[in-house]
Amino acid sequence: MAVQTVAGTADTTASAAPNVDLGPAAALSCRECGERFELGPLFACASCFGPLEVAYELPTGAPEELRKRIEAGPDNIWRYAPLLPVPADVAEKPNLNPGFSKLVKADNLARELGVTGGLYVKDDSGNPTHSFKDRVVAIAVEAARAFGFTTLSCSSTGNLAGAVGAAAARAGLRSCVFIPHDLEQGKVVMAAVYGGELVGIEGNYDDVNRFCSELIGDPLGEGWGFVNVNLRPYYGEGSKTLAYEICEQLGWRLPDQIVIPIASGSQLTKIDKGFQELIKLGLVEDRPYKIFGAQAEGCSPVSAAFKAGHDVVRPQKPNTIAKSLAIGNPADGPYVLDIARRTGGAVEDVTDEQVVDAIKLLARTEGIFGETAGGVTVGVTKKLVEAGVIDPTLTTVVLNTGDGLKTLDAVSATSQATATIKPSLDAFRAAGLASA
Ligand SMILES: *Cc1c(COP(=O)(O)O)cnc(C)c1O
Ligand SMILES: [Zn+2]
Repeated sequence: MAVQTVAGTADTTASAAPNVDLGPAAALSCRECGERFELGPLFACASCFGPLEVAYELPTGAPEELRKRIEAGPDNIWRYAPLLPVPADVAEKPNLNPGFSKLVKADNLARELGVTGGLYVKDDSGNPTHSFKDRVVAIAVEAARAFGFTTLSCSSTGNLAGAVGAAAARAGLRSCVFIPHDLEQGKVVMAAVYGGELVGIEGNYDDVNRFCSELIGDPLGEGWGFVNVNLRPYYGEGSKTLAYEICEQLGWRLPDQIVIPIASGSQLTKIDKGFQELIKLGLVEDRPYKIFGAQAEGCSPVSAAFKAGHDVVRPQKPNTIAKSLAIGNPADGPYVLDIARRTGGAVEDVTDEQVVDAIKLLARTEGIFGETAGGVTVGVTKKLVEAGVIDPTLTTVVLNTGDGLKTLDAVSATSQATATIKPSLDAFRAAGLASA
């Protein structure tokens, strides 16, 4: 009897080969039931469908030594390589070296808001593709390399598409990314210029994401690493670097309060994970901190659930200018609710008008031009200080996660030339702008 051979069993969900080197990453573990899996391109628990996250063998030894080792590292996220799922030689590979962005002491903004305990803006607009997404993509690229993927992909609200396009170009990988068709021009051009494939989907982000999930299960998507789907556990870890940097930049100290934007909620949950790791490693003193989540009113499913006291998040249909945060069905929503409640924080939202005002407030007071997501966090900070929910006497960090040049439409109607005149002193005098 002939032995039947099974052809074409290229199973992209197979366990990782034992020679996969992702540094201190030891396994994937289920956030719900704790079951562990070998490192591989998996994202959901085989037993309970819960989300998987990276489990580590973290460095042991004296905190002072680890602190010194980190401080001697490169001025980018790779200084934290001992705490990330990346090989030890990651800094020598072709990548965009994001991170170690400025932590700006925002005294002018603090005065305006009545904050006396120290207000800081963590400004991620200076990353290689001008948003925080370069952090998460850099980690996902290492996972893609380790698992042998040759095409890098994602479902994106805009910034991720550009970050993936750029990182793939630099790493020598093919890219094909998916966005809602009606994004801001700045995001579309940023995503296309790096030469990869860019596909506009007729629908919103949640439609794009559903489409990508189908593509992963189909031969059409075989060999593709979707950074925020089948590489999501690794991708998410990149957000921990924001927590590490903020603490190091504060002199190895936790902030008392931090305001974080919410799209899928991944960034917020991983910043909390980063803080917890630093405490466990003895790199910072274990003291209470409060995490605040920020959404736009036109896409505020997590904020609505927080205010209603619910544990589950009811999906919404997004309608807001804060398109980078416009995820109506956020995967990490329930975990965000847990963290906000556990730390004594909150989740709040602001109107599009308040987003625009806040973008201009940050620009006017600190010379930082944030994108709409920055308007959301600054606007929510203002609202929560005024409501007495954020304590103005404590150290507060606000994230600006993207560059205002990508969302010019938000402010273009009200940010124009003060006057247009003939090139003559008389004309200038007539415009009434002279100093005397
Ligand atoms: C993606 C994104 C976020 C946060 O996204 P999460 O899905 O919640 O991790 C925040 N700000 C900007 C500008 C983004 O592009
Ligand atoms: Zn599970």
